Amino acid sequence: MASLGIPRNTIEILKKYNFNIQKKFGQNFLIDTSVLDRIIRAAEITGEDLCLEIGPGIGTMTQYLAETAREVVAVEIDKNLIPILEETLSDYGNVTVIQDDILKVDLNRIVEQRNGGKPIKVVANLPYYITTPIIMGLFEKQVPVKSITVMVQKEVAERMQAGPGTKNYGALSLAVQYYAEPEVVANVPPNCFIPRPGVGSAVIRLTRHEKPTVQVEDEHKMFSVIRASFGQRRKTLVNSLTNSPELGISRECVAEALEEMGLPAMVRGEALTLEQFAELSNRI
Ligand code: SAM
Repeated sequence: MASLGIPRNTIEILKKYNFNIQKKFGQNFLIDTSVLDRIIRAAEITGEDLCLEIGPGIGTMTQYLAETAREVVAVEIDKNLIPILEETLSDYGNVTVIQDDILKVDLNRIVEQRNGGKPIKVVANLPYYITTPIIMGLFEKQVPVKSITVMVQKEVAERMQAGPGTKNYGALSLAVQYYAEPEVVANVPPNCFIPRPGVGSAVIRLTRHEKPTVQVEDEHKMFSVIRASFGQRRKTLVNSLTNSPELGISRECVAEALEEMGLPAMVRGEALTLEQFAELSNRI
């Protein structure tokens, strides 16, 4: 099967199946072999790996993954892509395509059955409309993953990687960095896709921390504190946390915790590191 990373081959297969591109599923097919090579290299896939691909589309990246991984499981929501994938992946005996919504698939069971519960690598050119639920779902459901190498909207990649005091820093940065080490590995312009998306894209690799990097007594509480702190970005931390019905804490309690931590009374959430959010939530 000829490489689908070459635009002519992608156009041919879409025409052959009279395929209607579904905007509602975030379908933008990758047509750049150098970007595909870079994703595979960044994901550091070896012949030992079970690789999960989310949204294989017409199978462009799946072909690359099948060449490098021991086994590939690809989950695609769009029924109309299944006959296409049967053709484009017919040369590979190590690929299983599951037609389903990734948010509904029991990934822990797949990892248990096919990889003996050992961590897998996730690679995807994600549908942008559900990037955050997909990534946070993998972390929060404790799916054993070594790394997640994904194409996302450029702005989302910047938010995931941002540090304290920058304009992109927020709840997503802290949530991602709590679980993993993010690294943007490539910026990808719209002309690398059919059809062209209206936004720039970036490939980001999230390498799961082997051990937690911060000590937190109640994860749920820490994330409530983080959400409340960034819900009203312009307010001081004392005001944001005191106004949060979810937390139900007094102004004195927040002020005392900040003082004990040596932070100024007027500090805003955007100035705090993950370690400081963990400490603050342990104290209040
Ligand atoms: N991997 C292909 C590529 O790089 O050319 C396609 C990428 S396209 C941006 C996103 C893919 O995810 C589409 O094939 C779309 O149908 C699929 N998709 C969208 N929502 C999904 C979901 N909830 N579960 C599984 N696949 C989904």
